[in-house]
Parts: sequence; structure tokens; C-alpha cells
Amino acid sequence: MSWTYESESPGHEEWHEGYFVPEFADGERGFGVSVGADDTQIPVEDLGDGTFRYRQAGEVAGWRICCDCYLHANEGPTKLWVSQQLWTRVASPIQLDPKTFRLYAPDESVTDPTFTDDAEDAAEKLWWREHIEELDAFGALNGSLSLTRAAAAAMDAAVLKARGVGLSWAKIGASLDMTPQAAHQRWSGVIDGNLPRSE
Ligand SMILES: [Zn+2]
Repeated sequence: MSWTYESESPGHEEWHEGYFVPEFADGERGFGVSVGADDTQIPVEDLGDGTFRYRQAGEVAGWRICCDCYLHANEGPTKLWVSQQLWTRVASPIQLDPKTFRLYAPDESVTDPTFTDDAEDAAEKLWWREHIEELDAFGALNGSLSLTRAAAAAMDAAVLKARGVGLSWAKIGASLDMTPQAAHQRWSGVIDGNLPRSE
């Protein structure tokens, strides 16, 4: 179970994948996925030779949301984001309360503590609020600047083309909802650099 975010803003290719990882009382975190056959053995370290160091699922004290942040397309994760919020593991399903960051999971399912839709929902919302919200807003602002710049460049090119075919400043102004004087003032410099003077 994980949540993904992909920027829809122009010029921003980044995407993010958030997920829960189990955490032990001493702060060591396990992997967010199980490796090997026995789900009650939580991998905590990749020993590099195809084997792992494990700890017992019974020792898991809670969970924390992590995010693999991919800031550039077609590359691996650029950084790992770790939430400030620890979600406490409760002893029975009756005590489960996602609103106060209490989750329940039996040992064999400890790598995925989102048993209820509520828990899943609360986790994704926290990830969004702590991590995604700001960068989404930043991307939208930055993307709007790219669009504005592209639109201005397109308008310059259109005016240049219009003058090239002999359109008057009066017609150019009218088409752009401007006075002829304003149009002339704004683009005469651009025109001077690109066309032989015709008036
Ligand atoms: Zn991220």
C-alpha cells in the first residue's frame, strides 16, 4: 500500500511515493515491504550479499510515513523524506484510532498497518499535509510563471509576424485589446531589432 503524487505543473517532472515503515522502540526502522517467506521477520538492513538482517515483528512499536522523492524523471529516488509523526501500535483492533495516530496490525501483517479505509485515508492525508501540499503549491506557482513567459513570447512572435505582413498598429492594438499607441510602445523595440523600419 502506498500513495503517489505526480506534479501536473509544466516544467515539474517530480513524483513521490509515500508508504508506512515499521519502527522499533529504539528508533530503528524496518523496510516497508517484506522480503523472504516469513512475514514476522522484519528486514532492517540489506547486508549487500542478497541477505538481510531481521528483527521480530513482535518488537515493532509503531509506524512512520516515509516518501521516496523522485525529483527528476527517469532517475532513482533523489531523497528519502521521513515524517515527524510516529503512529503508535496498539495491542488490539478495538484500540485502533487513526485520528490519534493509533494503528493495529498483527505480527504477520506488520509491514502494512492500514487495515481499514479510515487508517488508509488518515495516513494519506497526513503525508499530503506534511509533505506534498507545499511542493504542489510551489510547483503550481512556478508552472504559472512558465506559462506566462511562454504566452508573452508567443505574443511577441505574433506581433512581429503581423508587422511583417504590414498590419497597422491600429489593427494590432485592436486585436490585442490595446490602444495603437500602447501596442506600438510595447513592441516597437522588439520590431526594431527584427525588421527593417517601415515607417
Ligand atoms: Zn516525497
